[in-house]
Amino acid sequence: MTGQVDALVVGGGFAGMYAVYRFRQLGLKVKVLEAGTDVGGTWYWNRYPGARCDVPSLEYSYGFSPELEQSWDWPEVFSAQEDILRYANHVADRFYLRRDMQFNTRIVSVEWQEDADCWRLTSEAGEVFEAPFCVMATGCLSVPMKPDISGAQDFRGEVYHTGTWPKEPVDLTGKRVGIIGTGSSGVQAIPELARQAGHLTVFQRTPVYTIPANRKRMRAAVQQEFRDHYREIREMQQHNTGGVSNFRPSRSVQRPAGATRDASRFPNRLLDLDPGQRDALMQAQSLGALLAFRDIYTDIEANDIANELYREAVRRMVDDPVTAERLLPRNYGLGCKRQVLDRDYYETFNRANVTLVDLGETPIGTITPSGIQIGSQHHDLDVLIYATGFDAMTGALLRANIRGRGGYELKEKWAGGPVAYLGLQMSGFPNLFTVTGPGSPSVLCNMLVAIEQHVNWIGDCITYLRSTSQATIEPLPQSEESWVEHVNSVAEGTMYTTPSCNSWYLGANIPGKPRIFMPYVGGFPRYRERCEMETSSGYPGFVIGQD
Ligand code: NAP
Repeated sequence: MTGQVDALVVGGGFAGMYAVYRFRQLGLKVKVLEAGTDVGGTWYWNRYPGARCDVPSLEYSYGFSPELEQSWDWPEVFSAQEDILRYANHVADRFYLRRDMQFNTRIVSVEWQEDADCWRLTSEAGEVFEAPFCVMATGCLSVPMKPDISGAQDFRGEVYHTGTWPKEPVDLTGKRVGIIGTGSSGVQAIPELARQAGHLTVFQRTPVYTIPANRKRMRAAVQQEFRDHYREIREMQQHNTGGVSNFRPSRSVQRPAGATRDASRFPNRLLDLDPGQRDALMQAQSLGALLAFRDIYTDIEANDIANELYREAVRRMVDDPVTAERLLPRNYGLGCKRQVLDRDYYETFNRANVTLVDLGETPIGTITPSGIQIGSQHHDLDVLIYATGFDAMTGALLRANIRGRGGYELKEKWAGGPVAYLGLQMSGFPNLFTVTGPGSPSVLCNMLVAIEQHVNWIGDCITYLRSTSQATIEPLPQSEESWVEHVNSVAEGTMYTTPSCNSWYLGANIPGKPRIFMPYVGGFPRYRERCEMETSSGYPGFVIGQD
């Protein structure tokens, strides 16, 4: 067993990294245990071609250090994976975070020690760590999901998952590449893979709604204006539902001369547009314009109209009418899943070296040593890529084999779906905290904002316990019950939970996973205020145990 620390943190992504910084500030001894060889979490593992963030980088960045904000240059408005990973490394170097981080350490067991009031963590290699507090900073999308397809183990070619892409370059030149999955990862990877591969076959089960991403380089004037207003911007993030400030640079720097944007000439509700205006909108704007109408998220009729406008636009973009029809989402609406952003997705299907296989017509039968068999047709492949997503939100926590008071297993507690208070703690698991856990805004919020708020809350909570000589904290069972009810009730009636929606938010991508809407849809400010109420009122929703 290694030297004593106050808090063990599992995961060295943005949450674990900030925990080192913040806990040190609070005078706590902290140690991060990370399975990978370095910092970065999501941005360390998801190195697939085309990977990039769907939140603007000036917002998707730490707010804790004004000096950091002033010194880091983002090359693009929406950064690519390698630039975000470069940022993570810069932060780790700048604040000497690695001194309190241990890499190549996958935690396989997390066990509460009743007699000693501490957590005992064991790594895959058998190394044991103990501390009174444990923080699971294991990420919401960190356990890759690989479907169980017969014959998969017999495939003789190269196999990759977008969520665990190798660090070494993958050469696809001239190869026959197959990719399963058309969610955010697949949609980002497909255009890049098509450029690199000899031939690309896309195996699509559910067509996606995807809108063109902003591809702009960062302009120095825009970055400077953010820098000049960063304190204000960070405050605005705290009051925005999704944790983004939506700060707009002043008109003089906003757009290069000659650029125009005319969405403002359309009404705010799609239902208020007549058919002529709808056509004019789709001619004048990209697909993304549809997302600006608030009623498409709340009104089924507006949603149906938007879905049809979307389909018409796709028909215009894809040359082959049969391929176009196969690419059209029909069984669910815009707004049910995480919005996907792309660069040249539909155009890619106009390339001669790309084939779309619609699994909705005939599912994958078996994977053979040399490809994929679907009905009577065999698709010969040299490389098979799974872009099949993650066991989201609960996967990493359940995989860690967490056992609380009396050996109570988290798996047992969550057999019917996650039960937690504020996505921060679970009753029966004292002094165990989760960062962006189920029941918190997490994936519906700018992750960096959500992470900082959680780590600050956890740091303050531990400091409070220590300063009042109290040993343990965990939620009252009734706090978590009523919070789970609240999380469910605010999700009801939204597009996220329509019966036709099968998203990973609901656990619907994992066979056998309970269908529960896991993130908190009530908005970051409302959630944050609830957390602050707990802190300022002496944690009334929790049980605090004496030394
Ligand atoms: P995903 O959204 O869950 O998509 C997985 C894809 O794999 C779906 O098309 C799914 O089809 C398909 N699939 C799963 N099992 C299959 C099977 N047995 N046979 C055929 N197809 C199968 O996963 P993801 O694309 O990795 O994205 C997950 C989340 O990560 C995103 O929603 C986003 O939050 C995050 N992400 C963000 C970015 C970004 O910032 N731009 C990029 C990548 C990922 P079905 O729909 O039919 O299940």
